[in-house]
Amino acid sequence: MTTTQLPDSGELAELRQRYALERERRVRPDGAGQYRPTEAEFGYYAADPYAKETAERDPLHDTVDVAVVGGGFGGILTGARMRQQGVERVRIVDEGSDFGGTWYWNRYPGIHCDVESHVYLPMLDETGYVPEWKYSPGEEIRRHAMRIAEMYDLYPDALFSTSVTSLTWDADTEKWIVATDRGDAFSATYVVTATGTLTEPKLPGIPGIETFQGHTFHTSRWDYAYTGGTPDGGLTGLAGKRVGIVGTGATGVQVIPMLAEDASHLYVFQRTPSSVDVRGNRRTTAEDVRADHDGWARERRENFLRIVSGETADEDLVADRWTSSAALLEKLLPSFRREDGGPSFESAYEVADAAKMNELRTRVELDVTDPDTAEKLKPWYRYACKRPTFSDKYYAAFNRDNVSLVDTADTHGIERITEDGVVVGGTTYALDCLIFATGFSVGVSGVQSGKLPVHGRGGTQLLHAWAQRGPRTLHGFTSNGFPNLIRMGSLHNASSVNYTHILDEQAVHAAALVAAAQAEHAVIEPSPEAEDAWLAVMAKDAPDHEWFHAECTPGYYNREGLGRPNGPTAYPHGAVAFHQLLARWREESIGEALRAKEV
Ligand code: NDP
Repeated sequence: MTTTQLPDSGELAELRQRYALERERRVRPDGAGQYRPTEAEFGYYAADPYAKETAERDPLHDTVDVAVVGGGFGGILTGARMRQQGVERVRIVDEGSDFGGTWYWNRYPGIHCDVESHVYLPMLDETGYVPEWKYSPGEEIRRHAMRIAEMYDLYPDALFSTSVTSLTWDADTEKWIVATDRGDAFSATYVVTATGTLTEPKLPGIPGIETFQGHTFHTSRWDYAYTGGTPDGGLTGLAGKRVGIVGTGATGVQVIPMLAEDASHLYVFQRTPSSVDVRGNRRTTAEDVRADHDGWARERRENFLRIVSGETADEDLVADRWTSSAALLEKLLPSFRREDGGPSFESAYEVADAAKMNELRTRVELDVTDPDTAEKLKPWYRYACKRPTFSDKYYAAFNRDNVSLVDTADTHGIERITEDGVVVGGTTYALDCLIFATGFSVGVSGVQSGKLPVHGRGGTQLLHAWAQRGPRTLHGFTSNGFPNLIRMGSLHNASSVNYTHILDEQAVHAAALVAAAQAEHAVIEPSPEAEDAWLAVMAKDAPDHEWFHAECTPGYYNREGLGRPNGPTAYPHGAVAFHQLLARWREESIGEALRAKEV
């Protein structure tokens, strides 16, 4: 199915024109302002459908060694790596009623990881677990998160169904006071924030959204009480129901084939089509993934990271569409430009990108019977503009008589929602159930959003400090004025499509910092000079991605079409080099740096 013919300069020029046109059709002046948070009258959409009955408990005022905000993989790995370093009292706090984070909240039908399980699931070497599928279903991943938490004894001290509301440094005791919405105000010598990035479901601000009288929910809070069934399907509650789904991103692509099987009629309201590549999911054995020696998972994960980061590797162990498309991944955006300062003409990169996207558009033609529907499902933008998706069932769903694709690009999304349906282009689609697969607000959780106020030395608020001079950190983890506070996340750090790998490296680093600080009786706090030095390292080779994102169709990657600011937001030489830098730093200078207040 691959297109072997490479596009010539005429075709490239046509593609550029078409991409610009498709972007124009979708850019909205309100940008990210088009969305509504799931709060107040929309709070219903964020309520926890999986909450366990929690016994009332008295507020806590005790002291722990480490408080971890967030019980997803970031928090669990932090707990596990702290235990390996011999840290005793580790208390993880999470809004959900169990561990899992993303995998706690997202349980929609069809949910799978889209990075290979054998590199996505962390601590496989330590737990001895070998995933059963090349791409695991969500429940297998959630169970694995719980497995790590059990193995490292993280349950007894954990606080679930609890939100941290503020972190305040107490100079007298040299501890953080962790306040929560359950009245807790406990002390912690160290705090690690592992609050995730895409955590708060968002809704489109479509006029009339609040008037809909049918059943409605967000995919990250799936209502099985209404639909029946499980993440494996069997949604018997949808028999006889007209169902609408808004959104065709990575979530929509996984859930739509499942809804198609059980709804009486499914209307898919699409604004921008995803690129949907071959999935090839299958059961796997330990032999398939060479899980026959200690460290097999670490080796596989490193191999994947090297390939998707554009580094060389002797062998491609994962061998899937991520690795074969590696040259097109965001990390490899071309930095070369035209003489006049614009993006390069006909670069090798652009040719490869066009060939890949042509291949994906051809796939639509081959898999979708109705030519008009196929045309609407074709993605017209460059590969790295939107999160690539993978499915072998998605396009087939549109060949069913009970599935209709409703394209909303010309009206910048759905026009209006009424009491009993959705209006697009003047046509009303009557619905019994309306499901939002409309994604998550970006940058609204954790310390960077202001939703979790952090008061450091002298009461200084972290965000106030950063508002004046921009974010200042050492390695992304620590900041002057905020002693013993370690932040996880990609800011000033690294990122990858295999984000759990990044989180695990961060957890290893956080645990090493805490262990060294305990041994040295030192406070973890970088000097302003150490921050300056790190900012200079990031600024030196900061890539110029702005033009690329400015030409993409809107989405959360480019702030809904506004483009992404340049400047030092991450380590410029990629995750592999960053991890090496951190490991060397831990080996050679952690103790000295602590004593010199350089970390
Ligand atoms: P996205 O933000 O990627 O997608 C939201 C969808 O809603 C888009 O198709 C968007 O269209 C559409 N939309 C928004 N507003 C409107 C409107 N007014 N009218 C019509 N359509 C509208 O969210 P997802 O939940 O799909 O994915 C978020 C991220 O989560 C992914 O990028 C990925 O990182 C992760 N994820 C990973 C998975 C995995 O690994 N298995 C699975 C699912 C998600 P438009 O594009 O035009 O804005």
